[in-house]
Amino acid sequence: MQRTDRLPIGRYPTPVVHVAPLSNPQSDLWIKRDDLTHEVYGGNKVRKLEHILAGALRHGARRLVTLGAAGSHHVLATTCFGGRAGLAVEAVLVPQAPSPHVMDVLRAALALGLRAFPVGSWAAAAPVVAARVAAGARFVTVGGSSVAGSTGYVEAARELAAQVRAGELPEPDVCVVALGSGGTAAGLAAGFEAEGMRTRVVGVCVATPRWLVRATSLLLARACAGRAGVPPSRATLGAMRSRLRVDTRFLGAGYGLATDAGDEATRLARDAVGLSLDPTYTAKAFASALWHLRARQARHVLYWHTLSSAPMEPLLEGAPPPGALPPGLRRLVS
Ligand SMILES: *Cc1c(COP(=O)(O)O)cnc(C)c1O
Repeated sequence: MQRTDRLPIGRYPTPVVHVAPLSNPQSDLWIKRDDLTHEVYGGNKVRKLEHILAGALRHGARRLVTLGAAGSHHVLATTCFGGRAGLAVEAVLVPQAPSPHVMDVLRAALALGLRAFPVGSWAAAAPVVAARVAAGARFVTVGGSSVAGSTGYVEAARELAAQVRAGELPEPDVCVVALGSGGTAAGLAAGFEAEGMRTRVVGVCVATPRWLVRATSLLLARACAGRAGVPPSRATLGAMRSRLRVDTRFLGAGYGLATDAGDEATRLARDAVGLSLDPTYTAKAFASALWHLRARQARHVLYWHTLSSAPMEPLLEGAPPPGALPPGLRRLVS
C-alpha cells in the first residue's frame, strides 16, 4: 500500500452514536460524528485538507488558489487550516442562493484572510483560476476532491472499520453521506472495499449535472481504491458502481435549494438527535438516511455527518459586516 504524508489537524477517531428514537426493529440508525473533526471548524473538509496541505508544503507552496460557491465550506476550511499551516489562500467564488449561513461562511473566510476573486459563473472561474496559478499559486480542486484529498476518507473508512472491530457499532449495511464534489463518498467506498467490509456507500447527490457528479465520483473511487491497495481486479468501475450508489432522489431543484424532505429531516435531526443540518448538504443526506430506515432497506444504517458543529461566532470576530462587503462579493449572495 502506498503511504501519503499527512499534516495532522483533526482529532480522531470521531465518535459513533446510536440513535434509538429514529430506529425501528428492522432497521437501526447510527451516526458518525465528523462534525467533530476539529473544535475550531469541523466537518468533512478537515480530513481532506490533512493530505492536500501536506502535499502543498512538500512542494514548497506558499500560496493556494481554490474555487467554490460563495458560501463554500471547503473555501472556509482551506482558508482556516491553510492559514494555520502558513499558506496564503485565494479563492475564485461563484454566486450562491443567499442565506444567513452562506453569508456567515463567506464573512468568516474573509475574516481569516481569504483573498476572494468573485466571478459571475463557473465558466468565468476557469480563466481567473488559471491566472492565479500562473502567478504562482498552487491549485486545490473544487471541494478538495482530488485523489489526495479523498485519501482522508479512505483513512476515515479504515477508522470506522476499527470501530466496528472494537465493537463500538455493528458493521453497517449502508453508509449514507452527502455527495457534492464526490471526494468524501469516493474515499469511503474505496476504503470499505480495501477493508473488505460489507458496507455500501449511498452518496446523496446535492449537485448537478447528476451524470457528471456520478461519473466523477466513480472515477475518483476507482483511483482511490487503486492507491489504497485494492487489487486491480476489484478496483474496477464495475466494483465501484456496486460499492457506491448515487442517490439523486433528494436533490430537489438544485444545489443549495432547500427541499421539503430536507426540512423534515432537519426538524427530526434537531428534535431526536440535537444535531443541526444545513439545507445544501446534510438535510438532503439525512432525508435519504431516514428513507432507508423507513423503507427497512438495511438492517444497520450509518449516516455520516459532514457539517461542522463548531460555533461560528469566534470565526466571525473581526469579519466585515454584510453591508460592508465589496460590491463584487455582495453580488454573489444577493
Ligand atoms: C463539502 C461538503 C459535503 C460534500 O463533500 P464532497 O466530498 O464534496 O462530496 C458534504 N457535506 C458538507 C457539510 C460539506 O461541506
